[in-house]
Amino acid sequence: MAFLTIISSGFFDRAYASQKSEHSAYPITTFELIEDVRGEYDFAAISSSVFANQFKQYPHQIISLGITKSIYWLRFQLPPNNPGAITASQILELKNPNIDKIDLFIPVNDSSAVAGVGYLAKSVGVSRPAANRDVLDNSWVFSIPDQYRQDQFLYLRLESSSALRLPVVLWRDNSFYTEAFLKNLGFGIFYGILLAMFFYNLFIFFVLQDKSYLCYVLYIGFMLLYQFQVHGHLKLWLDIAYQSYNAIFWVWLTAAFLASIYFTHYFLQVEFNALWNKTRAVLVVAALVQGCWGFFGYTIWANQLAHGLGLFGPIAYMAVAVWRLRQGFRPARYYLLAWGVLAVGIVVWVMAAYIPDTFTAVNYLLVATACESILLSFALSERFKTLRLKEMVLTKHMKYYRNLSLTDELTGLYNKRYFTKVMEQKIDAALECDRLLTLMIIDIDHFKIYNDRYGHLRGDQVLSQLAQVLLNVLEQSQMAFRYGGEEFVVLLPGSNCEAAVQIADSIRGQLQAEAFMPAGEAKVTVTASIGIAELRQDDTPARLFQRADDALYKAKAAGRNQVVCM
Ligand code: GH3
Ligand code: MG
Ligand code: MG
Repeated sequence: MAFLTIISSGFFDRAYASQKSEHSAYPITTFELIEDVRGEYDFAAISSSVFANQFKQYPHQIISLGITKSIYWLRFQLPPNNPGAITASQILELKNPNIDKIDLFIPVNDSSAVAGVGYLAKSVGVSRPAANRDVLDNSWVFSIPDQYRQDQFLYLRLESSSALRLPVVLWRDNSFYTEAFLKNLGFGIFYGILLAMFFYNLFIFFVLQDKSYLCYVLYIGFMLLYQFQVHGHLKLWLDIAYQSYNAIFWVWLTAAFLASIYFTHYFLQVEFNALWNKTRAVLVVAALVQGCWGFFGYTIWANQLAHGLGLFGPIAYMAVAVWRLRQGFRPARYYLLAWGVLAVGIVVWVMAAYIPDTFTAVNYLLVATACESILLSFALSERFKTLRLKEMVLTKHMKYYRNLSLTDELTGLYNKRYFTKVMEQKIDAALECDRLLTLMIIDIDHFKIYNDRYGHLRGDQVLSQLAQVLLNVLEQSQMAFRYGGEEFVVLLPGSNCEAAVQIADSIRGQLQAEAFMPAGEAKVTVTASIGIAELRQDDTPARLFQRADDALYKAKAAGRNQVVCM
């Protein structure tokens, strides 16, 4: 951003201004004019003696007549040429690429004319073919012929649907071309920035498929076309009929505006703000109305509405960004800054009549758009970072709650829900690979009595203790679950009945060895009965479980504190 300003305001402006300080460029600042409200006069009438005294002195130094349907006739004289100096290569430049019709009448020596003065007429403007121009430049450039008569007025007829603001400069030599080169270099850099941002973010859009990148790319793309046309460069490339040329201008502007509305909408994630939704609807309708007016030739209305929208839009975006920023959405910072730069650009553009004539000032909107495109690109990457961080936190939470839903709170073992899932998988895997699997059900003996005697809290401690015993005894591949109440299950992949019984005995022994000593009482032993079943070829989860349960029943029936395998 900063370096851009340095480039634009430093290098180009100095180059741009230095030309004038060396007196090779003379701004023409004295004009007389006639307003032709109904467009009823022609040059013959205007240049006749009838009108000679009706021209009024124009009070300003730069022609700035606003948006008007009137036709203006101006007359002015060029500063006298030094008699001794080389008079060749006088160039007159009218600096506004958007005037529809410009007719310049240059007085020349003409022996056949009665007064010895003839007029060389040049007709250029956006609505005229590019072939009429003396020099192909984005502004209007006329070469003043050698037989030009210094003592006579030049006449200028202006007709346009856009604002009639038009600095006029006389160049005394070829330094015009040096200035034009620097000016076009400047344009190239700023168009280049917009193009780079366009393609860079287009690429990111293809990767991320995120709507806000698409809106950004469309906004920058149409803004680029808009700027390209506003600065008169499109006309040099695309010399099509005026109606169509004028119509496409409104397509770029309207599309850029709509894209900016939806860019704000998606970027700031403001779907649920009622005020914004209303504002958005108003903006969309206004943009479409402006587009239709412009497209179908009601250019003056469209221009007025465009000015209003150009100022109100960014202000609305900034208001929403402030609102989001206060909610803690950090990427809104760059967003705010970006539209702020553009809003200042628009203000400068509206006040163009009062600012110095430098590259940055004259083309501030282009410079601002380029800066804005970079800042918005920053905003997008910051938004991506923020969203990814949010997603990471969410994933972490999801993992946490998933774990929570699969474990038992008291013992920390997996719960029945998870057991059901795992048992099916383990059985499938074992059957497929023809591997051993045994299921163990552990049930604490007379636990109801223990609870009744010592209370539920002590009972819970026993359950936790048993879980600890299970974790001590079992290996990595052997999984224990709390099935419910005082019942636990264990899955033992790769174990047959014999191995499982050994493990079960060790669990039973360790539980029995635990010293449960409720306050004030002697040592209490807690025992458990264990039923085991070995997986068979034709087993289903239900059948395997049923056999283990049967084995448990047998162990209980045989006097408890026993292990039975079936
Ligand atoms: P058996 O030897 O036949 O298994 O007798 P039992 O008393 O252990 O069997 P029963 O199924 O009749 O009783 C189970 C008891 O387990 C009932 C309940 O008080 C107790 N219990 C179940 N869940 C919990 C628990 O989360 N905490 C505590 N402290 N006790 C529980
Ligand atoms: Mg029980
Ligand atoms: Mg029991």
